[in-house]
Amino acid sequence: MAKQVMLKFVDVEKQMPQKRPPDLRARDFDEIYSEYADAKAKEQSSRCSQCGVPYCQSHCPLHNNIPDWLRLTAEGRLQEAYEISQATNTFPEICGRICPQDRLCEGNCVIEQSGHGTVTIGAVEKYITDTAWENGWVKPAAPATERPESVGIIGAGPGGLAAADALRRAGVQVTVYDRYDRAGGLMTYGIPGFKLEKDVVMRRIDQLEQGGVEFVLNCTVGEDLSFDAIRGKHDAVLIATGVYKTRALEAPGVGAGGIVRAIDYLTASNRKSFGDDVPEYDSGELNAEGKRVIVVGGGDTAMDCVRTAIRQGATSVKCLYRRDRANMPGSQREVQNAEEEGVEFVWLSAPVGFIGDTVSSVIIQKMRLGLPDATGRQMPEVIEGADYTEAADLVVQALGFEPEDLPTLWGEPALEVTRWGTIKADYRSHQTSLPGVFAVGDIVRGASLVVWAIRDGREAADSILTYLAQPAQVAAE
Ligand code: FAD
Ligand code: SF4
Ligand code: SF4
Repeated sequence: MAKQVMLKFVDVEKQMPQKRPPDLRARDFDEIYSEYADAKAKEQSSRCSQCGVPYCQSHCPLHNNIPDWLRLTAEGRLQEAYEISQATNTFPEICGRICPQDRLCEGNCVIEQSGHGTVTIGAVEKYITDTAWENGWVKPAAPATERPESVGIIGAGPGGLAAADALRRAGVQVTVYDRYDRAGGLMTYGIPGFKLEKDVVMRRIDQLEQGGVEFVLNCTVGEDLSFDAIRGKHDAVLIATGVYKTRALEAPGVGAGGIVRAIDYLTASNRKSFGDDVPEYDSGELNAEGKRVIVVGGGDTAMDCVRTAIRQGATSVKCLYRRDRANMPGSQREVQNAEEEGVEFVWLSAPVGFIGDTVSSVIIQKMRLGLPDATGRQMPEVIEGADYTEAADLVVQALGFEPEDLPTLWGEPALEVTRWGTIKADYRSHQTSLPGVFAVGDIVRGASLVVWAIRDGREAADSILTYLAQPAQVAAE
């Protein structure tokens, strides 16, 4: 009888890859987790109980075939594990690093639910794909036949790139337009290197180029090139522009110097890590060194800002959030990482005013949680008379993002949007109100996750291929 390699969760404890000690990792922007050694990846994969109905898989937005690649890893069959993993995920090594697994696959693993500690799915996914890169198993697109149709993709974030990859593999001519000087979207300029090292993103972009995807960078659609021109040039268009309009604080004094937007702060830091010339960083405007920093918000962006400020050498870093720890939107794993690195979380608190032409302190209001709202979430209520003042030299607003008004910016009123300003697109086909125009990722969902953008991009590529296969429709436009 074959030796049982799986179901080891009772005897083998859950072990994440080693984290670098907080005092060391707080000095640089390198990733904080080391890679599993081969034996450890095998051992941790063997904890999976190979569920008949795998909840991990149903809670992964890509429905990754997790039990199968865990079994193959446990058996040492890594190339086959990689083949299965990449069949449903365009960038598995990226998702393995930055998906909030505690809210997705791992949070729903049955052995986590039974108190044994989840299978470390994300870390194994990263290990499989990093190994595939090392061994040359990750190949650029090499379509058997070139097709004459071309698709223009606006936005080089994960949504646009996942679609570009799938379309190119089908032989379609693909051009990706982006306003930044580097592709990758928020994976390049939003998410810090300590979660996702930049060479991991850049090697994917190099490979897309090697596979024949054309990138047109430093090109803001609506300014440098019109949306109409792009539609005229391509047989189909995909909008994947993300959401970048910062939700701003409304409080007296908010216009003071030293109160900055999270996206500007993180972009400057990421540019610095690339070795770019960043005057706003060098002048101190977007640099926390030697400053008392307050970050406002409780999501992933706020977590990234506080941990960036620590690495830049802030003298203190506090995170204000108006609900409590249990009700924050950010990943608990990231809160723990931030606390280890020296961030102080000030729960049930919100800024109500700022003092100084250049900010010198923040007036903070204390809250308590009241009755649940229509979504069931407890609403914060103000505790009257409990306000206090906290000194600060840099305040980072990390309250989330909203869509830009694309129909106006692009002079295309027929492009329908929802009441939140996100583009209206069919949730399966991703087709918008305009024929031959599709949309994916945050610009449709609102601020979301890389893994959802990848899923949308892959699905939209399928719909675009179906659309291109209907010549009458293409010719009719
Ligand atoms: P984006 O990644 O935003 O890419 C859109 C691209 O479109 C950009 O490159 C932009 O330059 C370009 N563009 C926009 N307008 C134009 C125009 N007019 N012309 C040309 N180009 C244009 N998700 C996770 O899963 N895990 C995380 O840990 C995580 N951390 C995050 C941390 C931060 C700080 C932020 C802000 C987000 C984080 N997210 C995280 C969310 C995730 O990054 C996004 O959900 C995802 O990147 C959305 O992908 P997208 O392709 O829709 O858009
Ligand atoms: Fe989990 Fe994300 Fe990988 Fe899916 S893609 S298995 S949610 S880490
Ligand atoms: Fe394995 Fe957990 Fe998925 Fe079950 S839910 S198949 S134990 S990883």
